[in-house]
Amino acid sequence: MTELLQSRLMPLSPAERLAAFRGAVAGRMVFTTSLGLEDQILTHWIATQNLDIEIATLDTGRLFSETYTVWAETEERYGIRIKAMIPERPALEALVITQGPNGFYASIEARKACCHIRKIEPLNRLLSNASGWIAGLRADQSQARGDTALLSQDTARGLLKLNPLIDWSRDQALDFAQKHAVPLNTLHARGFASIGCAPCTRALAPGEPERAGRWWWESEAAASKECGLHVGPDGHLVRIASPVRVAS
Ligand code: SF4
Repeated sequence: MTELLQSRLMPLSPAERLAAFRGAVAGRMVFTTSLGLEDQILTHWIATQNLDIEIATLDTGRLFSETYTVWAETEERYGIRIKAMIPERPALEALVITQGPNGFYASIEARKACCHIRKIEPLNRLLSNASGWIAGLRADQSQARGDTALLSQDTARGLLKLNPLIDWSRDQALDFAQKHAVPLNTLHARGFASIGCAPCTRALAPGEPERAGRWWWESEAAASKECGLHVGPDGHLVRIASPVRVAS
């Protein structure tokens, strides 16, 4: 069923993919936004097409102030409320007691423990009874994302996951956002390509790959520059047999 639906969605525009996915899958559907460039475009289409898709973000408590600003601007522009998913208080308190406020710099294990409590557990709670999940991954964001599927089955969560922008380039996304006055995080104009938590994200140097600014103190070999949100039970990004071909 997944490959059949993917073959129906693939020839469509990303906005049409969203509407067709919503129409094809019954039940609760959730879009998780980081309020970055790609996700702002998806919010634009969901809001302007009035699609029955919940919009939620993982408020880790460590986001940039610029991210909260664009969050508020987005709600005002589209007349929507973006649901905030907050970490479980006891687990967060225990984490900070154990590793201190910035313990994630100490090791990959410590960083993953922080990401688990601040991001993955809230995401799992958010998606616990959803049948569809929408995310803003693009295949050319990194080598690790190169063969990410347009549509995949998340067997662990029992849902279908759609990445409508999988075959778009960053330039296409920027061009669309400018033409349609989509609210953007001001950090993008200051060299931040991928924006996550403030202590774990830096601006890119010229020529660096898009995800290089995430967990910048970890070597590329030691970490895939992923926090685990889009990783399957095998520890890799969810893929299908026929990867999406990205136009150059
Ligand atoms: Fe914690 Fe950094 Fe992960 Fe945010 S990105 S949850 S601050 S380790």
